[in-house]
Amino acid sequence: MPTDPSSAPPLPPIVHAKALPRRLPVVGEAPALVPARMINEALYCERLMYLEWAQGEFADNVFTVDGRAVHARADVAGGELPPPPAPERADTRDPDDDEDEVVSPLPYEARALWLSSESLGITAKIDVVEGDAAGVVVPIEYKRGAAPDVPEGAYLPERAQICAQALLLRDHGYTCDHGEIYFARSRRRVRIELDDDLVAQTRNAVLRARELTASGVLPPPLVDSRRCEGCSLVAICLPDETNLLRGIEPAAPTVEARDDSNQMEQFWPTAEADDVAADTEVVLRRLQPARDDQLPLYVQEQGARVGVSGDELVVRGKKGETRARLPNVSQVSLFGNVQISTQALRAILERGVSVSLMSTGGWFYGRATGTDSKNIELRVAQHRAMADPEVCLRLAQGIVASKIRNCRTLLRRNHAEPPEVTLFELEQLAKKSERAESLPTLLGLEGTAARSYFSVFSGMLKGEAAEAFDLDGRNRRPPKDPVNALLSLAYSLLTRELAQVTASAGLDPLLGFYHQPRYGRPALALDLMEEFRPILGDSTVISALNNGVVTPSDFIGHPTGVALRPPARRRFLLAYERRMDQLVTHPVFGYRVSYRRVLEVQARLLGRFLLGEVPSYPEFRTR
Ligand code: SF4
Repeated sequence: MPTDPSSAPPLPPIVHAKALPRRLPVVGEAPALVPARMINEALYCERLMYLEWAQGEFADNVFTVDGRAVHARADVAGGELPPPPAPERADTRDPDDDEDEVVSPLPYEARALWLSSESLGITAKIDVVEGDAAGVVVPIEYKRGAAPDVPEGAYLPERAQICAQALLLRDHGYTCDHGEIYFARSRRRVRIELDDDLVAQTRNAVLRARELTASGVLPPPLVDSRRCEGCSLVAICLPDETNLLRGIEPAAPTVEARDDSNQMEQFWPTAEADDVAADTEVVLRRLQPARDDQLPLYVQEQGARVGVSGDELVVRGKKGETRARLPNVSQVSLFGNVQISTQALRAILERGVSVSLMSTGGWFYGRATGTDSKNIELRVAQHRAMADPEVCLRLAQGIVASKIRNCRTLLRRNHAEPPEVTLFELEQLAKKSERAESLPTLLGLEGTAARSYFSVFSGMLKGEAAEAFDLDGRNRRPPKDPVNALLSLAYSLLTRELAQVTASAGLDPLLGFYHQPRYGRPALALDLMEEFRPILGDSTVISALNNGVVTPSDFIGHPTGVALRPPARRRFLLAYERRMDQLVTHPVFGYRVSYRRVLEVQARLLGRFLLGEVPSYPEFRTR
């Protein structure tokens, strides 16, 4: 029954995005309890503590993997610590009193003991606690490296961590006058004295960790510090890259990270290392590792089934089975009607690897991922920036101008006779893009550039490919000629890649700046892809055609377009992977990394820009 509009309750006022406050209430209060490990990290590097504790970032490197192995035994809860004796007994205990030894001739041992204290503001899982019936206990922390040759037995971050554990034990009524660190490589325990100075430094670190976390401001990276070389978050933090973009020139030479005996020993203290670095050549340190050791798994046989057996993925098809070790798999792409078991899906997601679902022809439908990034600060910053038309325009100007310039570079390098008119036109369009006053204007400029570029694209094909393939402009959905079919497949693979990369960097792949949000569209992935379309997508296609990886007989004609036969798609995927794995000199940072790593770096730097840490997003422009 129609209702009388005059009797309807008034609609609430519409709040436009621009009315959102610049600072959203995401942060402002640190958790009440600081983990002892964060006390260690706050003293090693405040930024590391913030990235891990406030932003939930985590990454493994050789040190963390080795450290986990050392902790494996200590991490299994076991044993039992007796309750502390009544205070008067603990207080009056004489360490020289033989009677105490008779009461408790053997020490107790408890493993993976979790203690917290509201009054101290600390929580810790203590690897091992040894104690006796009189309530005298010793916390023992396991470390992977060798015992450093320093009078205190260990460096400050490690001593503060054990001190925090000792303070917790005291707070729970035990007597604890020292702690110990077991250094696995040296196979010995080192005694850590709990003097007033160490206790004060530990308490200060607790306050500092809470203060930083509550501030909501990521501390700046260390400058030219060797601590970064052993830091597992170096590829997330990007210390040298961030400093350079903030105008701080590096003073350190390229130094390969050493797998030395003790991580702290290499990087703490820094004065020595910094002196060594000061008078050597100025080079931005290379990102480690320069390329991924893991490989993507593509399954394109229709009807194939993906299962899991132990730590291997097992792909069963008509011609038998193929196995891939899970630790070696970087991503999984399933083309068309490929089945995957729940167990396999869970095993893949548990490792932080995503599964992309593609159509038989390579159209990217979406992906399954594990738990989302915990970095809510970054996602809020992304939403805030997206609601700001000026920020959107600024980012879009750079992205489109870079794309046009990269197209121009590709033509200049690969066209048999680079047409001067086109090169000139592209340069002019790139310049206009940098000054465009609106997103629709940019769209127009980009469209004009694309028409100009694709009108001479065929000139980059050589030999038989030049005769066999032609391209009458860009077309899609479905592509009407072989070159367009390959371009569509390459762009689809790149979209999938960047959807994963942006999500891993803590960004929302659906929320773009140039490509405006639309249902299901990975707009941010498309934004970042623009500058890489020519240098990764187009160049893979050109190289596959010129080198005979794909030939005219590899295509099937349909009434509406063409499609690539499966064996040729396999060869094309290999060509795409070779391109992604190719090392390239980063135009801003000067080091050589694979294109796949470049995509990760760019996504992280976009995050740094959105969080206000660097003044602009550095586009990737080839020279
Ligand atoms: S890479 Fe360096 S600056 Fe960044 S978190 Fe690690 S130690 Fe700190």
